[in-house]
Amino acid sequence: MTDALTPAATAGAPRKRRPAPVTVAATVCRVCGKIVKRPDPSRAETVLVYGPEFRSAQARGVPASPAEVAATRCDECADRRRLAASLLAQHPRVQRAHGSVALDRLDAALAALDVGGVLRRGRLVNDLTATDDDLAELILRMAALGALASWSSRGQLEGATKRWAHVRADLLADVRAEQTRLVRRLVEFPFPFTPPGADAGECAGCMFCGVGTLMVRESEALAAWGEQRRVDPSVLGGRHRPQPIAGHLCPPCRRAVEQVGAMGIPAVQRALLRHFGYTVTLGRALDFHGSLRAWVALKSGTPANRTPWAHMGPSMKEQLLDLERRGFIVKVARA
Ligand SMILES: [Zn+2]
Ligand SMILES: [Zn+2]
Repeated sequence: MTDALTPAATAGAPRKRRPAPVTVAATVCRVCGKIVKRPDPSRAETVLVYGPEFRSAQARGVPASPAEVAATRCDECADRRRLAASLLAQHPRVQRAHGSVALDRLDAALAALDVGGVLRRGRLVNDLTATDDDLAELILRMAALGALASWSSRGQLEGATKRWAHVRADLLADVRAEQTRLVRRLVEFPFPFTPPGADAGECAGCMFCGVGTLMVRESEALAAWGEQRRVDPSVLGGRHRPQPIAGHLCPPCRRAVEQVGAMGIPAVQRALLRHFGYTVTLGRALDFHGSLRAWVALKSGTPANRTPWAHMGPSMKEQLLDLERRGFIVKVARA
């Protein structure tokens, strides 16, 4: 098959005859900006370039369209995108969390490691992408930087002989700083952390499930317990107290509150069901016969739980099985 970019070599043709010249832009890698001598036609792409004219028109309030520029991907950038795709295939949870933009985001995050010179260090890259959490952290810290560093987002119309030649020094410094944080995170071991304020008389466990420690890395300990909350235990299955109780929630219990929208029994129920791998059957109202209680609603001074929801006692599992048998709840994948 012949096409405009790579005319097929004809047997017996004089060796001197070189392929027909291609347009300058079509030879530039859209990501790293390198000029590709023989672009692979299957990688030809049109990218929108928001160049200086576009930006100045926009600044003046004049309607403007980005330039459409033909570009390609160099071998390294194509390999990196394949690596991103295979990592997502191995980590479907990360794929689900980012949906249709997962590949673009992970490719951008890896592009940032490419800019920072780390992507060539195979073992380090393996460590940085080993678990779902590692990948999520990589995307969180690096994807935006990688997207900013891409040639097509810089509004540059000319390529360079070196990859990433267009990346400005301040952006490179930001990439390196984030990279250092990511690498430092790898050498920190997870450690058990109690809720902030537990020593100062605040709740010694998660206000909902009562778990007393979270195994997290030191740099993530504060974020893991989230912000301080104050609540009257009467809304969580306990007795009214004149002063609200201050404490924190573990990540899964916090997610339940975010999904339900308020600290209350519905959020407690959701957190408990999700912990044991259940969800409520659509349209059926649950009744725990008043036995559902957040840990913070227990009498003050109750020690924290070693495992989430231990305060609900061993009969809780039987209660859940019974509710499942009667069709009130169904098993789902753990959140
Ligand atoms: Zn490239
Ligand atoms: Zn909890």
